[in-house]
Amino acid sequence: MLEGRHALVTGGGTGIGAAAAMQLAAAGASVSLLGRRLEPLKAIAESIGGTAIQCDVTDRDRISSAFDEARAANGPIEMLVVNAGIAESAPFHKMTRDSWDRIIAVNLTAAFDCAQAAIGDLLKSESGRLVFVASVASLRGVPYAAHYAASKHGLLGLARSLAAEYAKTKLTVNAVCPGYVDTPMTDQSVARVSEITGRSEGDARSAITNMNASGRLVDPDAIGNVIAMLCLPLSRDINGAAITIDGGTSA
Ligand code: NDP
Repeated sequence: MLEGRHALVTGGGTGIGAAAAMQLAAAGASVSLLGRRLEPLKAIAESIGGTAIQCDVTDRDRISSAFDEARAANGPIEMLVVNAGIAESAPFHKMTRDSWDRIIAVNLTAAFDCAQAAIGDLLKSESGRLVFVASVASLRGVPYAAHYAASKHGLLGLARSLAAEYAKTKLTVNAVCPGYVDTPMTDQSVARVSEITGRSEGDARSAITNMNASGRLVDPDAIGNVIAMLCLPLSRDINGAAITIDGGTSA
């Protein structure tokens, strides 16, 4: 259903980005995968016949040249999945300005830069698709992760604003807002919680897992599936959605 169409996925070498890339490729799309580490990008690219491109999305000039490389390989960017992200945690009074800047740069400013680098192509497409990987942290506060939650609230604001701005075009703009997903990012969160609290890794994983309503981590393929669904031509009337996937029960 996506035959002959080009999807670019940031952070496509691991976790949710890799799952989205695989599902988009399974639906027929040509996929470009961006990230800082070439090795995981290449592994996914080889398995789906995609294109691996090294790119730090905090570098606006590099985004521009990397997107050009992607276009040269696969044509105009008709689907953009803004997925690259990082997480850190600290009590607010100990949160450093450096940490705040890192999180905002990757999770929010880079999303602005990536969306802007592709917007011309997306608007020219008969069914342009822009999907932001946001979070339940886009919808509620998160103790010990004020910077992360602020970046993800901002990301959802960006998504909703673009959805409103382009509502009368053929481009749709949506966000997915998962709870905790079974990816390297969650493994890192488990390790951090264990280190900060002195709890075992098993206890830290249980505490995190239990924040999801299901009591288990979300399978990244489930998120990849929703992203691919949003990219289908048939999803043309889904615009401005913030799709929550196992957001848990806590307020
Ligand atoms: P991963 O750590 O597996 O994925 C993050 C990806 O982003 C990596 O492939 C990483 O590749 C890439 N990335 C990070 N920084 C940069 C950068 N500066 N430039 C280019 N690429 C970068 O974790 P997830 O799959 O879980 O995370 C994907 C997205 O999902 C993130 O935006 C995250 O916030 C969001 N999310 C995750 C949840 C979870 O529970 N895991 C829940 C809700 C949302 P590399 O390091 O090689 O650059």
